[in-house]
Formats: sequence, C-alpha cells, structure tokens
Amino acid sequence: MLIFILLMTFGGAIYAQQPYIQDVQGSHQVDYTQVWLSHEHILVDFIGADSIQPDSWSNDAIISEVSPYLDELASYRVNYFVDATPAYLGKDVLLLQKLADKTGLRIITNTGLYGARKNKFVPHYVREISVEDLAEKWINEFKNGIDGTSIKPGFIKIGVDTADPLDTLHQKLVKAAAITSLETGLTIASHTGKAIGLWPQLKILKEMGVALNSFIWVHAQSEDDNITYLKAATMGCWISLDGLGWDVDRHLKKLLFAKEHGILDRILISHDAGWYDPQKQQQNITPYTNIFTKLLPELRAQGFTEQEVALLLSVNPAKAFAIENVD
Ligand SMILES: [Zn+2]
Repeated sequence: MLIFILLMTFGGAIYAQQPYIQDVQGSHQVDYTQVWLSHEHILVDFIGADSIQPDSWSNDAIISEVSPYLDELASYRVNYFVDATPAYLGKDVLLLQKLADKTGLRIITNTGLYGARKNKFVPHYVREISVEDLAEKWINEFKNGIDGTSIKPGFIKIGVDTADPLDTLHQKLVKAAAITSLETGLTIASHTGKAIGLWPQLKILKEMGVALNSFIWVHAQSEDDNITYLKAATMGCWISLDGLGWDVDRHLKKLLFAKEHGILDRILISHDAGWYDPQKQQQNITPYTNIFTKLLPELRAQGFTEQEVALLLSVNPAKAFAIENVD
C-alpha cells in the first residue's frame, strides 16, 4: 500500500515499470475499463510541409467549431481520444491541451512524420539526416516535450504509401520509428491502407527487434482480402478498422469475420472522423459517433457479447497504447 501511495504521489515518470498511457495532460496507469476512440482528428491542414503555417489557424475558432462534437462523447462515456494528426499536417499540442481541459477528454498526441501522399507532408530536412538523428528528435519529444512545450507524445505516428518495396524515405520513417519505439516503449501507428504496404514494414520492425504488438496497421479496412487479417493477427500486430465515420457496413462485415476467426483481440475500431480544416471557409465536421449510434446496435444484434464490445472499445486500445518500457 505504501508503495502504491508513493507511486501515486510522484506521478508520471515514477510509473517506470508499470504500463501507462500518456495523454496531453499527463500520464495514467493503464485501466482496461475506459472507453477509447483510437484514431480521430481535431485539426488537419493538407496544404503541405512546405507551406504549413501554424499561425494561420485560430485556436479559438477551432475550439468553438469542434467542441460540440467532443462534448457529444460524454453521453457515450468516452475517456480517451487519440488524435492521429501528425506534425506538418496540423498537429497543435497546445490546442489539444486546451480542448482536453475544456472537455475532460484524455486526448493523446504523437511524435513521428507522415510520408504518405508522396512525401508532401515530410519536411525537407528528413532527406538529409540519418535515421538515428531522426529517431533522436522523436525520442527527445518523448523525453522533453513537443514544440517547446512539456506535452509528450503517447505514440508514434508515421505514414507510408501503399507499395512494396516501400519508398526509400518511408523506409527511413519506419526505421526511425523502430528505434524510437525500442528506446521509449511507444507504439507505432502507421497509415498503411492495403496489406501490400504492411508486410515490408513488419519485416523492417522484425529485423530491428521490435515486437509486432507495438505496431498498429492503420486503415486496415482498405484491404479487400480479409485473409490478410489472419496473417497480421498471427504475426501479432494491431489491426485498425478506423473508417467508421464514413462507412459502417464494410466494417461490420470485417468485424463479423474477425469474431468468426477468433482475432477480435487484435482489432481496434475508430472513426477517423472530424476535423477542422483551415483551408476551408465553411467547416464540415464528421461526428465521432457512428460507433455508438450505428455499429454497436448492429454488433449486438449479430450476437456480439458485452465482453466482445469491451475488447474493441476498451481492452484492446488500452493494451495497444500502453507504454511499457521507460528508463
Ligand atoms: Zn486519420
């Protein structure tokens, strides 16, 4: 008991050996009963790494546009909201912190870089520096905070174009993510899409000694061949069916397949919804609610138990985002 009190007293870093979750306000020990949205967006600016200017958006305007959609989540008892927007695409950690303060949601942000869409969102310096130096930047964000703040990432977000072999720069991102994950215990979530882009990433991670349960296959719903999910599950990675803001039926079929084949314990679900776009005059935000209003009633009607629902919404994401190895 005394040890427990000491742990609670000293907070975040002292959790050392205990798995914990890092959000923009601090860290909490893993709790498998919390409700998660494991891949969403508050702000995305697609203008590109060459042109993006964080001064061009107003936090107040974004907060007033997005807050109603976040407030809605209280009625579904959502605790954790993973913001999957990477650097150079509108990651703004102070905005996320303000929204967390305002809404009570535990919002999680990331370190890393997004190579998909032919490197439009990769800053030029990445071509020049070594994999080790790139990883060092990400590890520094984990240790000291992002963009001069004390806000720390809760995972590594990268992105690759769907191809085998991977683009050279995308290989660099995967390797830097591997080094960062080994050093920090952060999980890697990689925008991947179809399985053809997954296998070369898993190969690099295996070669570099990263356990594949530290990897999330983002946008796995894009894959048409469900058999690939069985292979990915056997290899141990997380399979993220995260387009539920846009489509429910395709995801439902895939979840029934996952249940039938006994791999629900490797599946994450989310909407990939939102978001405020500074390039648009008129905002058109997609709500973060289809899971609760449409998917869960369907799953229950198709025989999903409450335990299986809890796996998808609570247990799996808590395991996937748990940070286990801090020095
Ligand atoms: Zn996304």
